[in-house]
Amino acid sequence: MKVLVINSGSSSIKYQLIDTETRNFLAKGLVDRIGLRGSSLKQERSDGHKINLSGEIFDHQQALEYVLAGLISPNHGVIKTLDGIDAVGHRLVHGGEHFKDSVLINEDVMNVLNECIDLAPLHNPPNIKGVQAARFHLPNTPMVGVFDTAFHSKMPDYAYIYGIPYVLYKRHSIRRYGFHGTSHYYVSRRYRDLTNGNLKELKLISCHLGNGASISAIKNGYSIDTSMGFTPLEGLLMGTRSGDLDPGVANQIIAKEGLEPREISAMLNKHSGLIGISGLSSDMREIEDAMLEGNKRAELAFNVFAYRLKKYIGAYTAALGGADGIIFTGGIGENSLLVRKAVLNSLEYMGIILDHEKNEKMIRGKEGFVEAEDSKVKIAVIPTNEELVIAIDTEKITRKTLS
Ligand code: AMP
Repeated sequence: MKVLVINSGSSSIKYQLIDTETRNFLAKGLVDRIGLRGSSLKQERSDGHKINLSGEIFDHQQALEYVLAGLISPNHGVIKTLDGIDAVGHRLVHGGEHFKDSVLINEDVMNVLNECIDLAPLHNPPNIKGVQAARFHLPNTPMVGVFDTAFHSKMPDYAYIYGIPYVLYKRHSIRRYGFHGTSHYYVSRRYRDLTNGNLKELKLISCHLGNGASISAIKNGYSIDTSMGFTPLEGLLMGTRSGDLDPGVANQIIAKEGLEPREISAMLNKHSGLIGISGLSSDMREIEDAMLEGNKRAELAFNVFAYRLKKYIGAYTAALGGADGIIFTGGIGENSLLVRKAVLNSLEYMGIILDHEKNEKMIRGKEGFVEAEDSKVKIAVIPTNEELVIAIDTEKITRKTLS
């Protein structure tokens, strides 16, 4: 089956056309700066052929029109007509308590998705725009929604309930949901395959470290706790997000700086984390380069990032009753040997011992293990593939519905 996977953000659409039989992409691309000056579309075929277009792209509907034109282009495309797309899989950030699994998108689902906007005002509206654009251009093609929250939906209540009046959970569904579920799902299954393990027996800690970062404790194949919470702001330090914060800090900043709630939200989501502490960059490569050149604020940002992650690994080892494996994924997890080294340093007493030589070789999309021979806990580096999970789920649900 050929599945078009769409990840629709506020001003961008990432996409891949995946052949689920070969599990490879036929073409993938990015429409960037939708509705802004300098919009562009970049597409790459699996044979390396690339297109790079710029021009005005007004909204998501127009963006998808160009994406589809690129996919069927006689010179640059990979399919002859739009009938070559068997189904569309959408990455959806927040399914609230309604969606514990991927779903076939119909009118009822659209209504519930709109109800969930309240829970994720930054993420759900652009996701919905992507679905609407795809339904407009491909009205007869089955569409499936795959939720970032679904993998965490089996968390026990004591892990997802916040210490606030219970009535607020009942009234407004305020609880921990967790995100990056598709990535944590993919790397845990891949770990099982690489080790010939059994998910029913494995206790895993999965660290997804990209621009957004989260960690998940995995038992029986599912998340029993995760660092992101009601929104993707909680937990680890991130490129531009603060992660864990005493709510009293937000109140104090509002009082002292005279900020509106909207402004404090922007500050915590867009101007905090690595860039907030370093004053330099949200990009870990730039933080590391500056740190190695002696920049003290970059070093502090790096240390806060690594220390927070180390604390969570300790906490989740306790929550799981011991870990069999720690998985690193995402741009930082896959590539930054310095982060892996700093995080795992001095965890030997927990049976976690890094092999420094192996660690230094594990970069640029390589997959493998970097623990020392005498380490009790395996340490895996696994490039994530959220698009493949979305494509496979989309195929499964489409086939089930059609049969
Ligand atoms: P992602 O959101 O998964 O694309 O990850 C983006 C993050 O990965 C950015 O902070 C990048 O700086 C970081 N990253 C990518 N390559 C490297 C590298 N070689 N060393 C350190 N960080 C990297």
